[in-house]
Amino acid sequence: TQPTRYRGRFAPTPSGPLHFGSLVAALGSYLDARAAGGDWLVRIEDIDPPRCPSGTDSIILRQLEAFGLHWDEAVRWQHDRHAAYQQALDTLADQGLAYPCSCSRKQWQAYPVYPGWCRTGLSDPTQPVAWRLRSDLGKRPVQWHDRLFGWQQFDPETLGDVVLKRKDALWAYQLAVVVDDAEQGITDVVRGFDLLDNTPWQRQLQVALAVPEPRYLHLPLVVTSQGQKLSKQNLAPALAEAPSAIRHQLFRALQALDQAPPDDLAQAPVTTQLDWAVTHWSVERLSPSAQRELPQEP
Ligand code: GLU
Repeated sequence: TQPTRYRGRFAPTPSGPLHFGSLVAALGSYLDARAAGGDWLVRIEDIDPPRCPSGTDSIILRQLEAFGLHWDEAVRWQHDRHAAYQQALDTLADQGLAYPCSCSRKQWQAYPVYPGWCRTGLSDPTQPVAWRLRSDLGKRPVQWHDRLFGWQQFDPETLGDVVLKRKDALWAYQLAVVVDDAEQGITDVVRGFDLLDNTPWQRQLQVALAVPEPRYLHLPLVVTSQGQKLSKQNLAPALAEAPSAIRHQLFRALQALDQAPPDDLAQAPVTTQLDWAVTHWSVERLSPSAQRELPQEP
């Protein structure tokens, strides 16, 4: 049989423009795909409209292009995907793997995770419901192999019954990401370390929906000198727009990915830097630590 062609993706939530940390994640997934001769897709994860100011998606796409990160195929937007998510939820519900839950967080606040009371029937049929995945029926323990961080293993009891659709009728990230990764034939998920602890729920869902398991590579997260994840809240520096600053930031991103780019690449055009980086891409060079400090500007 033919080996499956590599298909990777970058899947930003358009809650704000890309910052240096998201550039590192985008670059890592791009390089891994291109070095494998594979496809690289972009998917805009805008399932939570109140968190996604309009126009941010176009800013992100422009930023990717400015850094030379050109994608294959048409961009996919999750706000268009309601029917597919509903179908997946119906499939799970029909098999008894998903159930409606009317409990409020306050009711179960004494427990580390939701204790599953509604598995056997709604606690209050007059209340709005969220939909949850049954974690007590699946395989245990939940495990997968990360290409950088090795074998990961979780006990479903510590994971709880993850929410698939919220009480406000918005789709949960975990369901949307699994349905879209499967439908787009994603073979390789390369993303920031902050999502490593979301992976067990995604693995549970892949098993429940009988879709293939992608390979996973979680990349070290860029943090401030105080150890905080970069975000709009802690004023992560916006990505540069001037061509010389773009080159400089791309070079810094290659350094953050431990690729040790030669000094003379620092002011080279983005295409030259990316060509070098695709040719030399090496996951072995990445050191398996969860964090990288934001490079200080000289
Ligand atoms: N949309 C998620 C985020 O921006 C990433 C999803 C993923 O890569 O699985 O944090």
